Amino acid sequence: MDPVEKKPFFHYHPGARILSVATAGCNMHCRNCQNWQISQANPEETDAYALPPSRLVELAASKAIPLVAYTYTEPIAYYEYTFETAALARRRGLGNAIVSAGYANDGPIRALFKVVDAATIDVKAFDDGFYREVCDGGLRPVLNTLVAAREEGAWLEVSNLVIPGMNDDPALIRKLIRWMKRNLGEDTPLHFLRFVPHYRLRNLPPTPVSTLETAWKTALDEGMKYVYLGNVPGHPSESTRCPHCGRIVIKRAGYRVQEVHVDANGKCAFCGGKIAGVFQK
Ligand SMILES: [Zn+2]
Repeated sequence: MDPVEKKPFFHYHPGARILSVATAGCNMHCRNCQNWQISQANPEETDAYALPPSRLVELAASKAIPLVAYTYTEPIAYYEYTFETAALARRRGLGNAIVSAGYANDGPIRALFKVVDAATIDVKAFDDGFYREVCDGGLRPVLNTLVAAREEGAWLEVSNLVIPGMNDDPALIRKLIRWMKRNLGEDTPLHFLRFVPHYRLRNLPPTPVSTLETAWKTALDEGMKYVYLGNVPGHPSESTRCPHCGRIVIKRAGYRVQEVHVDANGKCAFCGGKIAGVFQK
């Protein structure tokens, strides 16, 4: 059980608890994976539990947890489980959220977005070469997934892990921002995440905070409304400001939500302006 902020979701039921599940395995092989012990393992190599969809949904309902996250590794790798569980959870009135790299074909991902309410999609870099060299994936299917999420009506947030010397070129980050604004809209939350050395990229240093702040300012200057820095505790970007009046409408300290000044209809309590997101649960 995690706070929903940890996924990260900052505009999807802020402050709610979310039951979080995964299986072993992934369809990509990122050299920086922070969950490589399970994402790059076979099912036989991990501690696993039998948890059929019906029992998982029962578990969430019995503990009054309103949301289920398919996360940690790659929900597309355990697609059938995600799909079946999400369909069942929705029938019980629970919300479903995936945390995914979005490396999928159009048909299956659209089918999934019919039972999943929200997605945080991690864009590794706005560069197909990076995907091929570092992740064993490709950029185009990921961009398609982002557009599909929007078109199918899922709530969407985007994350981008900034790795020093690998995908931290300001021009590359600006490309991602501009593509997002054009194709997803300025209301789509964007999380720049700080890299810490993991797995096969232990030789690199953590991302300098100044690099992240440059990305943050670039995104705000380009007109994105909700931009956050992740893994930088205490940074002013971790709270949400109303884009209309500038007041803090969701105050966070790390993953903890301290104040919410947004009503169930997504209106700012100070000025009545619209805050993008899903707030009614
Ligand atoms: Zn306001």
